[in-house]
Amino acid sequence: MGIFQEIIKFGSHEEVLFCHDAEVGLKAIIALHNTALGPALGGTRMWNYASEEEALIDVLRLSKGMTYKAAAAGLNLGGGKAVIIGDSKKNKSEGLFRAFGHFVNSLNGKYITAEDVGTCEQDMEYIFMETPWVTGIPKDYGGSGDPSPYTAHGVLMGIKASVKEKFNLDSLKSLRVAVQGLGNVGSNLVKYLVAEGSQVIIADIDPEKVKALLAQYPQLIETSVDKILYSDCDVLAPCALGGVVNDHSLGLIKAKIICGGANNQLLESKHGNALQELGILYAPDYVVNAGGLMNVFVELEGYSPDRAFEKTRKVYENLMRVFEISKREKIGTHLAADRLAEDRIQTIGKLKQRHPGKSSRSFTTLKEVYNR
Ligand code: NAD
Repeated sequence: MGIFQEIIKFGSHEEVLFCHDAEVGLKAIIALHNTALGPALGGTRMWNYASEEEALIDVLRLSKGMTYKAAAAGLNLGGGKAVIIGDSKKNKSEGLFRAFGHFVNSLNGKYITAEDVGTCEQDMEYIFMETPWVTGIPKDYGGSGDPSPYTAHGVLMGIKASVKEKFNLDSLKSLRVAVQGLGNVGSNLVKYLVAEGSQVIIADIDPEKVKALLAQYPQLIETSVDKILYSDCDVLAPCALGGVVNDHSLGLIKAKIICGGANNQLLESKHGNALQELGILYAPDYVVNAGGLMNVFVELEGYSPDRAFEKTRKVYENLMRVFEISKREKIGTHLAADRLAEDRIQTIGKLKQRHPGKSSRSFTTLKEVYNR
């Protein structure tokens, strides 16, 4: 399939920038999906793609996902993403990231980048040498650091909203929550759940992660990676991989709620419908795991950890709106989340057209900080 056909297939990307600098071996693509709500924010992924076509498909898909995530989160951000084609273990250099920074800068703030799979804080620092339009820089420069505790706190808020919706309960005390994956997000979530008085079941393919958490909280219930998804529990919180809800797992899940931090939990959209038919409440992943993005957004305004933490509480409200749309429109929650995002883009996008120049807040703080 040709390049333009791929772009058309994903529908309505505003701009796709191909970046090439032979001297430093840079081949990258920046995709701006939608900037109706604000500048397109999304990380830069460095990956050894099998082909340039695969890289293009990935950046188109991921940038579209960011549009929906930011819109449903209630943030004044659009959706964008970048991919650098290359092996992150072998092909990184200062020149590569500074050259990439030039391309980011050429978009004049329409695209703001961040860390993603294969990139790290050091890479962001190199990009930052060439452009102010980067987040996830070191804390000394006004950066926000590791987003995971904020993501996890958003997930906790998501679980609270889901429990209110499904069981009409305001507390997580004594509820059984199964957490799959004890990495950056999962381990923080476990801590929050323990503080709430929940009974927490845990599993990770890395036995060291399980051991470390058990040492801190002996009351945790350990299970195997094969059994965690099918635990006898009220809430299943996938915090490891995508695709956990699939043809195989559907009939075996005992939880009444699925709400976790992992991306792309439904293998296919049809699995969202199937969950609804089974009476399992699915809290759409990109609404639930938006805490990290909220944290970065606060960095753009001038970072404050307290404000970032406060902001993640909004996941509760956002999910409640998703559940309301789902009931009103009689559609699965996964579709209701898309509806919430699309409605906001429509409404605010039109409002901006009617009031040109009176656009939502510009990131003056970011500019001030970075242009010193
Ligand atoms: P991570 O790599 O730190 O943790 C993932 C954990 O899952 C690891 O401990 C790994 O050993 C474990 N794992 C992998 N396969 C497993 C399996 N089959 N069963 C049990 N455990 C398994 O990643 P993270 O940053 O904690 O992110 C977790 C998920 O949340 C990912 O899907 C990520 O895309 C998503 N997410 C993360 C953030 C963030 O702020 N870190 C934000 C949004 C979404």
